[in-house]
Amino acid sequence: MFHSHALSQRAMSAKLIEGVPLATQARAEIAREVKALTEQGKKVRLACVQVGEKPESMMYVKNQQKLCASMGIEFQMVQLPDEISQNAIIQKIHELNQTPEVTGIILELPLPARINTFLCQRAIEPQKDAEGVHPVNLGLLVYGIAHHAPCTAMAAYQCIKSTNVELRGKEVTVVGHSQIVGKPISLMLLHDFCTVTTCHIATRDLAFHTRRADVLVVAVGKAGLIKAEMVKPGAMVIDVGVNRVPILGPDGKQTLTEKGKPAFKTVGDVDFEPVKEIAGWITPVPGGVGPLTVTMLLRNVAEAAKHFHPNII
Ligand code: NAP
Repeated sequence: MFHSHALSQRAMSAKLIEGVPLATQARAEIAREVKALTEQGKKVRLACVQVGEKPESMMYVKNQQKLCASMGIEFQMVQLPDEISQNAIIQKIHELNQTPEVTGIILELPLPARINTFLCQRAIEPQKDAEGVHPVNLGLLVYGIAHHAPCTAMAAYQCIKSTNVELRGKEVTVVGHSQIVGKPISLMLLHDFCTVTTCHIATRDLAFHTRRADVLVVAVGKAGLIKAEMVKPGAMVIDVGVNRVPILGPDGKQTLTEKGKPAFKTVGDVDFEPVKEIAGWITPVPGGVGPLTVTMLLRNVAEAAKHFHPNII
């Protein structure tokens, strides 16, 4: 059960908010919508723009492609040469904006240092902005009428909503104020009549704010930032952070994989085991917000096909 007031310090184990079943359910809904759109003769296609060959991001791109196929969404890879000019990238994006079959565009980051990422992202037609990062979409979040919201913030929001906890009047603390997570999720929860505090690097007493939170969203990228004593008993804890940390052996030294390479594991920003004993709800890392993020991207692509109208901003 969710507790809106400070509770007894009795140890309890939090309910897990698992992203995989939520993502599976959302993907089935998207696949049904895509099928209906296709039957009406509408195309649903994601165009993925990549500048330069990037072996490290190829796995991410392949994953997108596979997921698209599983939901009946067409996937178009737009591979641009490393030496391409900023104007030529923007020109290519304009072409995709004008292509009716393309209902979503994603610009794989990072772009080469000489390219202005903001200007390239701004060139994407807001309704085809699969990642929900266009200034128009971010601006519409203030009005609570965004066509597309940033995928990670939406994924965190879906995790919160899946608990069916009444949000109105709750104290929310968001740690991190990035454009893609902290700021948008703060706006979404404000829209639900939560009282939202957004913390960042200049926050003087982080624990003071986190301990007050009925819902604590952490999106920083620092393993172990949130300790058990910083969490209010019974709170809902949404851990967006993804950190690769060394796996240590009993001697405190990093262990090796079977292939003799240094071993790493993925953890969030929250000290999961001890916090789990205090919180009412918690998202694991991996397996919490992550699986929903790419699903939200594809939902944006399908939504655009449903609502696309060239005369709306
Ligand atoms: P980001 O742009 O680096 O933002 C991190 C934020 O944390 C910044 O606002 C920063 O403030 C703030 N911060 C840094 N140290 C802090 C501290 N000690 N106390 C309070 N705030 C602090 O990162 P992001 O893109 O938002 O991503 C955040 C995390 O989420 C990363 O671990 C990333 O890998 C992960 N992520 C996960 C998913 C997913 O699907 N699960 C998707 C995207 C990102 P300043 O700007 O003032 O320094």
